[in-house]
Amino acid sequence: MTFYLRTSMSNMPSLRRFAEANSTTLGQECPACGQPFEKAQPVTLIPLGPGRDPEERARARQGAFFPAVAMQVHWACATGEDDPPASPDEPPQATQS
Ligand SMILES: [Zn+2]
Repeated sequence: MTFYLRTSMSNMPSLRRFAEANSTTLGQECPACGQPFEKAQPVTLIPLGPGRDPEERARARQGAFFPAVAMQVHWACATGEDDPPASPDEPPQATQS
C-alpha cells in the first residue's frame, strides 16, 4: 500500500545522498517507483521512525537522536532531482528554458 502525505520540499528532512544502492539491495524494487535499484543510481534513506523498540521510541519522544528504521528509495524519487546520465559517454539531457 502506498500512502501520500501532502508536503513541500521545505518540510523534508535533510537527506543524505549515496552514490548507489549497496550490493545487497541492487536489483531490488524501489518502494516509491517500483523500478529496480541499478548501479550508479543515487539513493537515499527515508527515516520512518523508531520502530518497535521502547527505548528508541522514548528517545524519539524526547527529541533525542535515535537509530530510525529507514526505507531506501532512489534519490530522484525522494527529491525530484533527475538521475545523472547512466554512463559517462551519455550526454546530459537537453533542457528547454
Ligand atoms: Zn524509485
